[in-house]
Amino acid sequence: MADGLLGPAEIRELAARLGVAPTKKLGQNFLHDPNTIRRIVAAAALRPDDVALEVGPGLGSLTLGLAAAVRHVHAVEIDPVLAAALPATVTAAHLTVHAADALRVTGDRFDPAPTALVANLPYNVAVPVVLHLLAELPTLRSGLVMVQKEVADRLVAGPGSKVYGVPSVKLAWYAQAKSAGKVPPAVFWPVPNVDSGLVAFTRREPPTGAERADVFRVIDAAFAQRRKTLRAALAGWAGGPGKAEDVLVAAGISPQVRGEMLTVEEFVAIAAAAKTSGY
Ligand code: SAM
Repeated sequence: MADGLLGPAEIRELAARLGVAPTKKLGQNFLHDPNTIRRIVAAAALRPDDVALEVGPGLGSLTLGLAAAVRHVHAVEIDPVLAAALPATVTAAHLTVHAADALRVTGDRFDPAPTALVANLPYNVAVPVVLHLLAELPTLRSGLVMVQKEVADRLVAGPGSKVYGVPSVKLAWYAQAKSAGKVPPAVFWPVPNVDSGLVAFTRREPPTGAERADVFRVIDAAFAQRRKTLRAALAGWAGGPGKAEDVLVAAGISPQVRGEMLTVEEFVAIAAAAKTSGY
């Protein structure tokens, strides 16, 4: 490839040389299409002074594109064979490889501090990874992630949408998210049986008025029984439907609506009202 990105032949050759047989368990579908890499890097709107955090560099397809665009790349890879092989593929002095589980990394291991999350995520843990990193790394100001198309739709959904749920509201706590398009299965090896979607996000000031953990508990309770009214869905959380109703009324929210109609700010109002009422 003219710009050094990996195409199908290079990916197969690398995998064969390393003895890599992609596993479903780790969501190992590798990008072998330089145009998709360029598209992801462009959609991430990176600045030359950005520090990129890539989760799951795999064989290094996207890592090569990122290394050309930013001042430092942190690549967190759980598969020790892939982590060990990465520096031979991406021979950049400004790459740090972390052989680690992205769900368990803490902020103190990253120097310089990451400013942008850019990743073709392992699909089975995509949402927890994004939420964990946004919580753990306050320096992350933007992100561009590729996830299963249905998950992308959920992450960017707003109140009232059929697919609005826990991932949508929790991501909204941290960031403003929007779709950056669809990606077909053919750009991966092996070819997955789902479409993929790109989600771009920009960090926002977190809502004020209640602690994140308290708000997230309300969100989990409201969507655990999403077809029920909030009065019923929050009964277990509040200690009875009557108490749930009292808190909702105090928060200025109708007890008869469902959680899928509420913004993250309204969930904050419920958590704040519960605290004031001593629940
Ligand atoms: N970025 C590469 C690409 O686009 O070709 C590979 C993407 S592949 C969809 C996902 C990668 O995430 C794999 O390399 C897999 O080993 C890695 N992975 C899976 N679970 C992980 C975790 N919990 N933490 C870090 N990496 C993980």
